[in-house]
Amino acid sequence: MPGLAVMNETPTPDSAAVPDPAAGLEAAAAPERCRAVICDLDGTVYLSGRPVPGAVEALARLRADGVRVLFVSNNPLRDPGSYAERLTGLGIPATTDDVLTSGVVMGRWLAEETPGAKVYLLGEESLRRELTAAGAVLVDTGDQAEVVVASFDRTFRYETWLEAFNALRAGARFVATNPDPTCPVEGGEVPDCGGVIAALETTTGRRVEAVAGKPSPLMLTAALERLGCSPAEVVVVGDRPGTDIELGRRGGVATALVLTGITDQAAAAALRPAPTFVLDSIAELPDALLGQNAQDTP
Ligand SMILES: [Mg+2]
Repeated sequence: MPGLAVMNETPTPDSAAVPDPAAGLEAAAAPERCRAVICDLDGTVYLSGRPVPGAVEALARLRADGVRVLFVSNNPLRDPGSYAERLTGLGIPATTDDVLTSGVVMGRWLAEETPGAKVYLLGEESLRRELTAAGAVLVDTGDQAEVVVASFDRTFRYETWLEAFNALRAGARFVATNPDPTCPVEGGEVPDCGGVIAALETTTGRRVEAVAGKPSPLMLTAALERLGCSPAEVVVVGDRPGTDIELGRRGGVATALVLTGITDQAAAAALRPAPTFVLDSIAELPDALLGQNAQDTP
């Protein structure tokens, strides 16, 4: 059976008894005509570097039917060009325009909110290049900084933590690329940007002001702008309720949760509000979406 549509589900007495900040917020209905898919990568399109079975064919079918696919990643270590190359190598042709990362959205935020400001980055060389290309002025010490950007940083150490700490204590603005506590890697997980944010928040008493990656509305706004679509014309597909599905829920966008990554059937069934679709894998997405589109075609 193609996509199990889960909509307008009434909370059970048990779940209703637990205060839930999202209670009363139903998932958005599936688009009448889907024009684009905002698509997570790891755990959704590929796993351990290999395509999820049926993913290549499913994405090709969506594109053949005129549905644009925008790949979104919270990982700021790779730039869109690198993701495009990787996808193309897996049999999913992609250009840099088809990819949006938390690094790109962070660069956009800096350009719009703090143009010309001096930025102290807790992040890696790839993101440094990307933010610089977006017009940010990066500085080497905290005392020069007007903005601190926290990120996924495998070079994070006490000296850089102290520079950022001093900048924040002196009143610099505080933003971050992505909220993820960990990043999945072959054989397990490694600490991600969420830990860097926590280190700074705990020690300075400050709270991060904006986070670029999913589920931030900054990411959704950037994605919809890139696609030229309204929220009612797109679907977010991904394997993580807290990032992918929450991105859609906050923006009133339909969501498809796939069970090829971090979420199993039991966890999916317990989600409130339920995603618009729960699918065994992205291979089922064309049947779930194009069935709706076909009904419109005369
Ligand atoms: Mg994922």
